Amino acid sequence: MATREFVAQVGRDAAFQLEACVHCGQCAGACHFYLVTRDPRYTPIHKLRPMMKAYQRERAPFAALRKWMRIAPDDPTAQELNEWSELIYDSCNLCGRCTLACPMGIDIAGLVRRAREGMSAAGFAPQDLYTAAEHALETGSPIGVRWPALKRQIEIQEKETGLRIPVDVEGADYLVVLSSMEIIGYAEVIGALARIFHQARVSWTIPSAGFEATNIGVQIGSRDVAAALVSRIVEAAERLKVKYVISPECGHAFSALRWEGANLLGRPLPFKVVQIVELLDQLVREGRLRTRGKDTRKLTFHDPCQLVRRGGIEQAPRRLMDRVSEHFAEMPGHGAASLCCGGGGGVSAIHRADKLRFAAFERKKQQIDATGADAVVTACSNCRNVLEEAIDQYAMTLPVLGLSELVAQYLEPD
Ligand code: SF4
Ligand code: SF4
Repeated sequence: MATREFVAQVGRDAAFQLEACVHCGQCAGACHFYLVTRDPRYTPIHKLRPMMKAYQRERAPFAALRKWMRIAPDDPTAQELNEWSELIYDSCNLCGRCTLACPMGIDIAGLVRRAREGMSAAGFAPQDLYTAAEHALETGSPIGVRWPALKRQIEIQEKETGLRIPVDVEGADYLVVLSSMEIIGYAEVIGALARIFHQARVSWTIPSAGFEATNIGVQIGSRDVAAALVSRIVEAAERLKVKYVISPECGHAFSALRWEGANLLGRPLPFKVVQIVELLDQLVREGRLRTRGKDTRKLTFHDPCQLVRRGGIEQAPRRLMDRVSEHFAEMPGHGAASLCCGGGGGVSAIHRADKLRFAAFERKKQQIDATGADAVVTACSNCRNVLEEAIDQYAMTLPVLGLSELVAQYLEPD
């Protein structure tokens, strides 16, 4: 069963990529899980062994001959699959740093994502992710956040800001979707957006159904779940006839909708997907968003992997940082080479992986320490939560801030 599922994932292009590996080992030096443990099992290309074995057994040139000669790799055992489950879920953030490092251009992170499709279909994904997927299909949210919880947060932010937050406004230009992490942990971002859009005269709305941005389907590796979750956002956008959907401060939500959305849906998206950082940068450049004053602390910026490496959003957050920060200090290896926070790709939702992700944070800690920053800013609520937890684990004291909230803090008064 598992071999069949893996083989289904090994399309012709994946097979070409697997064949292209020259075993140079450069991907090892790119992966923080390998760097902190020096365990060869955490070499990125090694994490694709189940896929390779399935490919060599079923699809590689002379596979039938090898099977007949009984020299083909055996079908993986349940024990091997459980071990591999740890490699492609717990120790991979789908961060893409290894992909960037590979001289043969092998998209290792993309192949791990495909391998997850086989593992989840075969029943070998972590139970935490199956549970999150069930919650998401039932309620829209991987942690079961429903409309009454968001409605309550909206009411609180309306009181805080004195602004009306538009809900279900048909014909608005922009639809704002949010991650459960933002709704539960960082709801101030809703008030920050209200203040920003008020100043910039942006026509926007939040949907009362289809408001969840996160997509557990791309993390567990289930195309069906991913497509169902994308469809809910599309239904909300079509119902309210918006032109744009704003992907919030959530890295993988952006990749799921912007890069995978149309393929998952099976037709072009009927709107443009704009990442919130891109939009803020655009509003500043158009003179519609004006700031006054700057944060005087030394601030550094953590690049969310899905925004900077997969999304190419590198300069926009820096222009915004320069606008609101007097002492902006870059981490060594920032931008496209940035290290993951350790919790991306669903790893932060896998409890059995906690120890490993906290260990992986050691490299990120070194980068943060090198800046001497008083606070870390980022543009992904999952990174923010993971950084906060890791900072606490390492007994560090600096706070982690959201970029949209920081910009809203320095808006020019009306
Ligand atoms: S860097 Fe690329 S070619 Fe080298 S071992 Fe890794 S996957 Fe193979
Ligand atoms: S995608 Fe990131 S975490 Fe996964 S193997 Fe590559 S470098 Fe390591």
